[in-house]
Amino acid sequence: MSNHETADQLDELLNRTLADVFGFRSFRPYQREIARAIIQGRDVFAVMPTGGGKSLCYQLPAIIRQGVCVVVSPLLSLMKDQVDSALKNGVNAATINSTTSSTEWREIMIALDRNQLDLLYVSPERFNTPSFADFLTEIDVSFFAVDEAHCISQWGHNFRADYLELGRIVEAFPQCPVAAFTATATELVGEDIKTSLKLRDPLCIKASFDRPNLFYQITYKESVDDQIVDFLKSARGESGIIYRSTRKKVEQTAETLRARGFNAEAYHAGMSDEDRAAVQERFANDETPIIVATIAFGMGIDKSNVRFVVHGDLPKDVESYYQETGRAGRDGAPARCLLLYGYQDVIIYQKFLDDYEDETAKEAARKRLDEMVRFAEADSCRRVNLLKYFGETYAPIDLAPDESLADSDGKGDASYKARSSTYCGSCDVCVGASPREDATIEAQKALSAMQRTGNRFGVGHIIDVLTGKKTEKIERFRHDELPTFGVGADHSRVYWKYLIQSLMSQGIVGLAPDFEFPIPQVTGLGWEVMRGQRKVQIIKRPEKRRQREKRLAAATTSQAYDKFSLSPSDSRLFEMLRAKRMEVAAAEHVPPYVVFSDKSLVDMVYLKPQSDENFLLVQGVGRAKLKNYGRIFMRVIEKFLKEQNGERDE
Ligand code: ADP
Ligand code: MG
Repeated sequence: MSNHETADQLDELLNRTLADVFGFRSFRPYQREIARAIIQGRDVFAVMPTGGGKSLCYQLPAIIRQGVCVVVSPLLSLMKDQVDSALKNGVNAATINSTTSSTEWREIMIALDRNQLDLLYVSPERFNTPSFADFLTEIDVSFFAVDEAHCISQWGHNFRADYLELGRIVEAFPQCPVAAFTATATELVGEDIKTSLKLRDPLCIKASFDRPNLFYQITYKESVDDQIVDFLKSARGESGIIYRSTRKKVEQTAETLRARGFNAEAYHAGMSDEDRAAVQERFANDETPIIVATIAFGMGIDKSNVRFVVHGDLPKDVESYYQETGRAGRDGAPARCLLLYGYQDVIIYQKFLDDYEDETAKEAARKRLDEMVRFAEADSCRRVNLLKYFGETYAPIDLAPDESLADSDGKGDASYKARSSTYCGSCDVCVGASPREDATIEAQKALSAMQRTGNRFGVGHIIDVLTGKKTEKIERFRHDELPTFGVGADHSRVYWKYLIQSLMSQGIVGLAPDFEFPIPQVTGLGWEVMRGQRKVQIIKRPEKRRQREKRLAAATTSQAYDKFSLSPSDSRLFEMLRAKRMEVAAAEHVPPYVVFSDKSLVDMVYLKPQSDENFLLVQGVGRAKLKNYGRIFMRVIEKFLKEQNGERDE
């Protein structure tokens, strides 16, 4: 048990281990509290966002406490990643799962006998076997960690029956603390976890769901693939995920991207297990930097250097948007989330609602869709709205000054000072990249055209009326005699279509229920607009492609998202270091981010360390990484510096 008498002594030990082993200078929120509780023998239940640093919360006590920490984790790929990362930091870790050979078993047993193992990862299936239960009674278990603990709940999004059995841990090992971790914020799931695991007066932690390093952007969707290509041009060399709503769209977009010279692959549930595993592995290894996928892609991906997540179609609700964008930037370095928002998606989803037979389920789905639309349409700070959805009030966190050397050059300061409870300074709305415009008069014209034609004509005909186009149908119904005929000739047909779609998604125009074709009609809200009681705003639609590109460029090069703020020559060094990382990772058969995170490389660029002492200042470099990689990477830096000096001498 712990013999760290005072709180101060324990804190000092935690700080030292954090620096020596993990190479981090400060704790992320709640990591210290959780580690301390486990060491003192208390159960823990922690809800922390993706990238919040949950692993460290149990790895640190695992190193400090006597005995081995048994970690239950649901996926092979996650376990493998964790073990690789731990080993690189010099932490003794192993995994036991369906692929463990008898030789490996023997090695693990020997290590356990000699008290040399800190972490033992095990799948829930294996955990539940009688032989494993016996095995556990023979070894010195320091505590249990249950990762992705929402798998225990039927309400969670990936329930695993095997997790239910974990409730027996407490009875079998009353003396061992149990720590459970999840990124699922739902109250119901939380309660389920605590009761099913039978946690005893646990320390309950709910961290903020803010992801300060993510830049959120929502842009009007026009031609998806072109927009994605434009975006990717500003993300050269970066790795990321592009979500599309259907297999067909996934394949089309992947095809287009490849045709335009991007290294992209498709991923969806229609592919074989082996194909999917292979794609996932190439993604982890940076061999295929871009994955176009349905939402089937995500669980089991701990890749920390995902630099962007693009949604080509509307996510099904705000929670999904949050979880999917959350896969970007786990390493804490800047990352971008772009949603291409099209009203046509809203209309499709609205139609799906008709398929619900159960009224309650239908209402719940409608509510979630409305919330998603409101989020996408809002012209206030994205981050504030996102957090509000989780019942959280945005409070800009104080980035510890030594969190990152990359931040300490003062560049981040301006945006930091400006941040407030309504302004994050790191989304398109805050940086002014998604302007709105008033369209009340245009909306009144369109509504009037629908009303005067009796709310029974399709969008094409309404646009004919507005733009004053004399068609056979117009003449037959004498719509050219209406006062609204031609009142909208000053705008293009495309504009009117865009406006009507926008009015639909805002509930100002509804769809008539019993027509075969979509028939727009004025709703209650629409009447308020016609009577002048309600104003209408729409996302300003850039007419020209060039304008659109400029706007995107403006948003993504704003000070809030300045990639890593590297000068051209520093970018070159970054590329050199990245190439070296790739080479080392390939030789060691681990993903590149296991060798060093992007954040570590950026620190190396800023510091250009040429001594062990300075190399240790790089975030993520502890004793083990200094020993194994210090020389190799410092040599790259030395080469770069020489080249630079050489140029200057000439
Ligand atoms: P989670 O499981 O909560 O999604 P991880 O444990 O995978 O998050 O951690 C995400 C990333 O954050 C990893 O790359 C990890 O090394 C890094 N990290 C964790 N704690 C810290 C810290 N105190 N300082 C800097 N980086 C950290
Ligand atoms: Mg995790």
